[in-house]
Amino acid sequence: MCIICTGEYKTIKNLLTLDCSGCANVTKIPIIPSLQELYCSFCTNLTEIPMICGLKELYCFNCTSLTEIPVICELKVLNCSDCTSLTKIPIIPRLQALNCSYCTSIEEIPVIPGLQDLDCTGCTRLTKIPMIYGLKDLYCSRCTSLTEIPMIPGLEYLICFRCRNLTEIPVIPSLQELSCSGCPWIAQNSQFEGNLSKLIFLQKKLKRLYTGKKLEGLIPQISEIYYSPGCKGYELAKRSFYSSSS
Ligand SMILES: [Zn+2]
Repeated sequence: MCIICTGEYKTIKNLLTLDCSGCANVTKIPIIPSLQELYCSFCTNLTEIPMICGLKELYCFNCTSLTEIPVICELKVLNCSDCTSLTKIPIIPRLQALNCSYCTSIEEIPVIPGLQDLDCTGCTRLTKIPMIYGLKDLYCSRCTSLTEIPMIPGLEYLICFRCRNLTEIPVIPSLQELSCSGCPWIAQNSQFEGNLSKLIFLQKKLKRLYTGKKLEGLIPQISEIYYSPGCKGYELAKRSFYSSSS
């Protein structure tokens, strides 16, 4: 039971902040025009966020039934992490900070002009980071479908560890912190050569074991994990594979 379920919110005049976090009975949030901050995380049956134009901050993480976020004109902060049914992030004109980490159904993040802080950690379907001028902090670790990071002038923090298909990180002069451990195809990584020989070893072993159709099914999986087209390691591994197969 929360302030919505009890109806208590109706008795408060000019309600600025509403917190109904953790209530599994809430399926809808009423339209409260005075509201500026809404905390409705862990409302697992919540399917809709109301369009309240004056809302400035919205915390709706772990709302696993939520499929959509409306374009809220005044919204500055949005934390919708772990909303696993959410398929789209809209262009919210005043948004400054977006946390959509572990939104595993999202394939794309739009260009949101004015965004300064983006956390899309663990968005495993995301294939591209939007090119947003003015972005200062970018957290995109464990984005396993990501192959490159765009050159974002002014970026200060780039945290992109365990992006296993990342082949390129541009040189960004403004960068103050870069964390890219566990990105096997980033050549600056000291483990690069080691990983390459592991790949070659694995492929040779597979070839030896390659006796039935069952194992054939493993090849795409291994490729996905260990190499990405266009990078140095891929070419070397390919050559080594073909020379060892003849
Ligand atoms: Zn409730």
